Amino acid sequence: MLSLFTILRKRLYSAGLKPGDVFLTFDDGPNLVDNVTVSLLNVLHRHDVKAGFCLVGKLIDSHPQVVRRMYHSGHLLINHTYRHRHPMRQSYRVLDGEVAACDEALSRALGIPGYRSLYFRAPYGIVTPAVRRVTRRRKMQQVLLTHYGWDTRVGPGNCKPVVDMMLSSAREKRGGLFVFHDGSLVPSLMPETTWAESPENRVWVPEAVDRIITELKAEGMRFVIPQASHQAAMETQGAAKRAA
Ligand SMILES: [Zn+2]
Repeated sequence: MLSLFTILRKRLYSAGLKPGDVFLTFDDGPNLVDNVTVSLLNVLHRHDVKAGFCLVGKLIDSHPQVVRRMYHSGHLLINHTYRHRHPMRQSYRVLDGEVAACDEALSRALGIPGYRSLYFRAPYGIVTPAVRRVTRRRKMQQVLLTHYGWDTRVGPGNCKPVVDMMLSSAREKRGGLFVFHDGSLVPSLMPETTWAESPENRVWVPEAVDRIITELKAEGMRFVIPQASHQAAMETQGAAKRAA
């Protein structure tokens, strides 16, 4: 029987966080519709916050300059496969090719031969035996979550309850590893809606992140990349630069 688990973990320490730590991650970009990812990078820069970006290879190829900016700003670049296909439909061999192709897109965008991410987040958060095997063989760390806020189900006109819920759960748990989607690749299950309420409209995300950082920082929380991840990323970047 196929055993599945998802990347959702309930406890802070299992995501490498201490009480009071918040790690923000952004999936399915880069996305330049309405300049969403660029606005998001501006917000993070203004608050001096480093985050993790789970990047899709084909979108990296479309917007390499945004990925270079993420890298030079010290954000964590996380492999999210090349085409973002559902892991249930992929064999080990196909998934391994998807991960390799995403790394190659990162390498092209950064102009660093042999660059590879040591971090992986499975599309749709679904961890299959093939996902486990690929990450184990490639010595990649899976980037987990402590909170999932269903942000892919809302647009700017109806996002407020989702953002409020994220804030209250961060307060309750004193931190957490959150995911937002700056891009839109998850098929919407919603009936036809207006563009203001369309989950494909991600324009609200930078503003929501601005609010979350402002409020939680004022309450003493720290926005971090978990230490182990950060250190390993720096070492990989150093090694890639030396090899270049
Ligand atoms: Zn995704």
